[in-house]
Parts: sequence; structure tokens; C-alpha cells
Amino acid sequence: MRRKPQDLTLSQAGRAKFVIYARVSSKEQEKEGFSIPAQLKPLREYSKEKRFAVTREFVDVETAKQSGRSGFQEMVKYLKDNPDLKGILVEKTDRLYRNFKDYVILEELGVEIHLVKEGEVISKDSRSHQKFIHGIKVLMAKNYVDNLSEETRKGQTEKADQGIYPSYAPLGYLNVECDKEKVIEPDPERAPQVRQLFEWYATGQYSLSDLVHKTAEAGFTFRRTGARISKSTVARLLGDPIYHGDFEWDGKMYRGKHAPIVSKELWLRVQNVLAERERPRPKRREFAFTGLLKCGHCGCSLTAEIKKGRYVYYHCTGHKGKCPEPYIREEDLGRQLGETLKAVRIDEDVLEWLVEALRTSHDEEKAHHDQMIASLRRSYDRIQDRLDKMYVDKLDGNITEEFYEKKRAEWVAEQDRIMANLDAHQNANRNYLDKGVELLELAHKAYSLYVTQTPHEQRRLLDCVLSNCTYSNGQVTFTYRKPFDSLAVTNAAYQREKAISPQKDDLLDIWLPR
Ligand SMILES: [Zn+2]
Repeated sequence: MRRKPQDLTLSQAGRAKFVIYARVSSKEQEKEGFSIPAQLKPLREYSKEKRFAVTREFVDVETAKQSGRSGFQEMVKYLKDNPDLKGILVEKTDRLYRNFKDYVILEELGVEIHLVKEGEVISKDSRSHQKFIHGIKVLMAKNYVDNLSEETRKGQTEKADQGIYPSYAPLGYLNVECDKEKVIEPDPERAPQVRQLFEWYATGQYSLSDLVHKTAEAGFTFRRTGARISKSTVARLLGDPIYHGDFEWDGKMYRGKHAPIVSKELWLRVQNVLAERERPRPKRREFAFTGLLKCGHCGCSLTAEIKKGRYVYYHCTGHKGKCPEPYIREEDLGRQLGETLKAVRIDEDVLEWLVEALRTSHDEEKAHHDQMIASLRRSYDRIQDRLDKMYVDKLDGNITEEFYEKKRAEWVAEQDRIMANLDAHQNANRNYLDKGVELLELAHKAYSLYVTQTPHEQRRLLDCVLSNCTYSNGQVTFTYRKPFDSLAVTNAAYQREKAISPQKDDLLDIWLPR
């Protein structure tokens, strides 16, 4: 008998409600075990097992170029609109988040997250250690996206080597397909306008702002958005070698195959005028800690100035009236900010132990790659075996020289493909852990590093670890960024316990979730 929808609702009444989320990149989609159905199946089974009611499923398929995540955004909206929902079921951390913003959005929603494959549940009540490891995994998810872009970049560099501009056509050019290859060619409408810009500027009679007015008068706009041409666009355009036939890609110059819009001679004349007219003005001095702190009295930013020609002092801008906070010397402020790093300074033995814990928690991930590596090695050896046998056949005169060469080329190409794949899996194994270890080492070394650094370097380090810094009554207050917040809490508990009973056997267990 077919069940009516109402029955279903009734049978689900009283159960905790969840949504399912799955994500895959188009590249992975082709590989076994990564497809959307392969992700959804265990999630559905898990919800059945736990007797959850799944009210909706959200799915994203994305490419390295397009980062649109309509499914994710829809899900966030749906969760907001339905506060009775308990949480999200998802395969692994790297399926759910692509960056810290996603992480913060979901944390603010306060929903429970079941990482089904990792066997973890993250909620408001999670132990700080668990949240900490989770935070590291979020960082790694980001790394996963970086790797994806890396793959795209490789293909693009190959195109650049062939003289083909490998990205979106700049203003004045169009992306077109030619012999199944994406290339650029002059935009019949805009190329003459670009050339006109070069000709105007080469006369030396116009400033960049003049050119902005002239383009507006001429109705010269971007093709896709219809947006006007800004001053920075004009500056960039005039300095771009692509218009005379060369292009820069990934820090290297390439000789392009595309049709130039201006002659090299005109382009060089424009460069001379640019150098002459836009001579750099002396730079304003930038202070290391400005923009980092707000005044605790008035909420204004802290700014800095030099006194007696060499001492840097920080103080409230006082935009909202006179501020009672006295000035503070850069050295004093730096020292206070540095103190905050002491709380995340983990002991050497804790570092070693945590790295080990991280390694164990990723054993499953590693097992998958190891399995792939073993299977790829077997395929490689099988082909090698065939090659050897065929060589004997050739010597014995069983096959022709021609047949041998043809087959050999095929099989060697296959071996090359396998080797590339093998490398990818070996790198995945390494990358996965390296990020987490890097983060732990940063926590371990942060303070000792800080005291040897220049204020500008110190600022970079502080930006990694702190947020919401304020300064009032001579005191810095702040919050730690994730995952340093949970690290600091657990570390404090550990240090307290260690001070009381340094010989305790299970001292390190404080870092474990209970
Ligand atoms: Zn103030």
C-alpha cells in the first residue's frame, strides 16, 4: 500500500528535525565515491538509524571558477525561517564549509552539525577540545578549495604557454571559441574605443581623470554590466601589455597569439607619459597597530602619531568629543598585545601529543588515499609487466616492430597518467596534516616569535590570533579568533592542573573530549 504524505508527517511527529547538505566539485563528480548520490546515501541511512526526520535536502555542485553556493544559502535561509529545526547532517567538514565566514554563519544559527563520516557532532555544548579540532578541520576545508583552484591554474598555465590568454577577456577583447579552443579577439565595438584612449593619453594633454570624463561622454562602458569606466580602470588599461600583444600571467610575460589593439610603439609612448605624469608621491607612514584597536570609552579607532621625531604614540581619534584615555607608547602597547599570545602558547609535549591526536583522527582519510595509492601502483606494475612480455614477443618475432611501437607508446602514456594520479594522492596525504600541524606550531611558537619581531610583523601575527581588540584605562581587551579561543580555554585548564599535580599520569587527557 502506498503511504499518503500525511502518514509520513505523522510518523515523523515528535522526532528531531534535520536537513541534509551535500556538496561536490564538478571535477570530483566524475570520480567514484565523490558523487552527490554517494554522499546522500549514508546521510539518509544515518538519519533513519537515529530516527531523525529530514525535512529537506540541499545540494551544491560547483566548479573552481564558480563559487556560487545557492544550496548553502538556501539552507541557511531555511534554517533561519524554521527555528524548530535541530541541525544539519553532512558527510565531512570540507563538504560544509568553504571558509570561516560559513563557519561563523552556522555557529550563529546555533544548529547542531552531525559530521557523519567523521563520527562527530558539533553543537553549542561541544567540548572546547572538540571545537578546536573542528576549527582546524575548517581551516583544512579552506585548503581544499585552494587545491581546487590550483588544478585550474595548472590548465591555465598550459594555455598561456601556447600564447593564449587563459582567463576572462579584458576590456576591449571578447572570449570566443576557435577550433574548440577558447581564445580572445578584439571586441569590434570596444577595441576602437580602447585604441582611442591610448591615442588621447599619448598626446600628454590629458590626465587620467580627463580620460574618465571623455569615456563617459563617448558612452564607453563595460559590456556585461554597462558600468562606467573608472579612473583605476583607465590606469590599469593603459599599463596593460595585452593591448600590444603580450600578456602577463601568474607573474610571467607571454607572447600572445591574439590580435593587438594598439601598436607597440603607441603603447610605449603611453608608458612614458604615465611615468611622467603619475610620479609617485611620498608615502604616508603606516603605523603597525592602527586599525587593530578601538577605544573602549568612545568606540573610535586608535590612531598613531610621532612625537619628538621618533616616539610613536597611540591614542583615540576623539571623533566623538574629548576622550579621557591618555596616550600610550607603541612599545608598551606592543608588549601588552604580546601578552595575549601567552595563553595560546602550548607546551612542547602537548604539541607533540596533539599532532599525534590529529594524525590519528585523520587515519581514515589517509587510509583512503593509501588504498588508492596501492591500487594505482598495482595498475602501474601490471602495465610494466605487459610491456616486458611484449618486448620478448618482439624479440621472438611474434609481433611487428610497428605494432610494438604503437602499443608501447599507448601503455607508457597510461603509466604517466597513473603516476600523476599517484602524486595527487600522496600530496593529499601530506597537505591534510600539514595545515593542522602548522596551526599548532604557530600556537606553540607565537609568543617567542612575537618578542623578536618588528611591530609590523607583530601586527600580522596578531591579526591571525585576535579580534575585537579594544583599549581603555591602559588595558587591552580582546577575543581570540577560532580555533585559538578553545585552545586558550583548554590550555588554561591544562596549565592549572599541571601546576597542582605535575606528575599526574593522565594530565594530557584534559585535551580530550569527555
Ligand atoms: Zn576614546
